[in-house]
Amino acid sequence: MDKEKKNLADINAALAEAELDTLAIRAGQVRTMEGEHCEPIFTTSSYVFESSSEAAARFSGEQDGNVYSRYTNPTVRTFQDRIAALEGGEAAVATASGMSAILSTCMALLSAGDHIVCSRSVFGTTTVLFSKYLQKFGVDVDLVPLTDIEAWESAITNKTKMLFLETPSNPICDVADIEKMSELAKDHGCLLIVDNCFCTPALQQPIALGADIVIHSATKYLDGQGRCLGGAVIGRKEHMDEILGFIRTCGPTMAPFNAWVFLKGLETLRLRMEAHSANALALANWLNEHDKVEHVFYSGLPAHPGHALAKKQQKAFGGVLSFRVKGGREEAWKVIDATQILSLTANLGDTKSTIVHPATTTHGRLSDEDKAAASITENLIRLSVGLEHVEDIKRDLDRGLQLL
Ligand SMILES: *Cc1c(COP(=O)(O)O)cnc(C)c1O
Repeated sequence: MDKEKKNLADINAALAEAELDTLAIRAGQVRTMEGEHCEPIFTTSSYVFESSSEAAARFSGEQDGNVYSRYTNPTVRTFQDRIAALEGGEAAVATASGMSAILSTCMALLSAGDHIVCSRSVFGTTTVLFSKYLQKFGVDVDLVPLTDIEAWESAITNKTKMLFLETPSNPICDVADIEKMSELAKDHGCLLIVDNCFCTPALQQPIALGADIVIHSATKYLDGQGRCLGGAVIGRKEHMDEILGFIRTCGPTMAPFNAWVFLKGLETLRLRMEAHSANALALANWLNEHDKVEHVFYSGLPAHPGHALAKKQQKAFGGVLSFRVKGGREEAWKVIDATQILSLTANLGDTKSTIVHPATTTHGRLSDEDKAAASITENLIRLSVGLEHVEDIKRDLDRGLQLL
């Protein structure tokens, strides 16, 4: 080999010592013979072999290499290697959406008769997946309050294989102690799975705190600009091999174009997460002083019950907050409908700020009892704070608040 030429082994050795900012921009890139600077998009469904013996060796797995894009694709592989590096996991598997990341993890690692203990305040569709669909195949789920470790412990049985949580929670920003939860999982021989969608690895790295598997909806902050659906699972190679086996067989594969969009998103992840967090903190402080606001839920506020833990476990407090206006549904809707700049949409993790009424949209399927348990009242509004100027966001919210 030409000693003066840069080679992949030396590049990887240099990246092994690199900081998150560098990994977000560089990890996983393999340059082709064309010498391109930006990662290419491999829009190919299959790959050509140079001989029948090579085709046979690739199919049997004797030889590494691409066969078909349901199995592997270079752009998708770059995304997988990069998100694995950012989360500090051995490997990652990319999926078509966040929900297919959760489904694929369960299908690969659970069997009929197994049991999941899950936080009551996870993404609503996750609860539906567990309680409606997995239950049909003999997997049971129990829902417990996120921050009540005793409730988790007493829900665990000898059939429990997974503890599943999101922290901070949506919409009221409760914070779970990942380190303590991982000890609980280890004590009972089950896996701790953390959906890290709200913080991303720029603010929180669950694997370093003891989690076994991290899940992402890449649709949210990893893209960060609301363009594509995608998901990822990150963890130990033994688990990722099983999950990849499910994806190869069943097909919830990430599209190469989407993988490329997420690669571009990751390059600015830390800068965006810090800016989202700064805007959200400024807004939370302003809402907290507002005379038409009853209560603000944001772990960046010292009065929030999860404040000290979030400070220890996260690098910043994130971009999602919620608040209760004085009044009920009518007042909450008035504030939402008076906004001109914010987008009324259930999506989050976008440079564009979004506003939504959880009780009648994202959490509308919950029973009144479950809503009460999740603190979702009729006067609650959730914001995903974007990167517009914070004074413009305040002015837009104040249009409606002044009507109350
Ligand atoms: C959106 C979301 C999901 C689901 O992801 P999709 O990409 O929409 O399938 C899962 N978990 C959390 C926390 C989410 O916000």
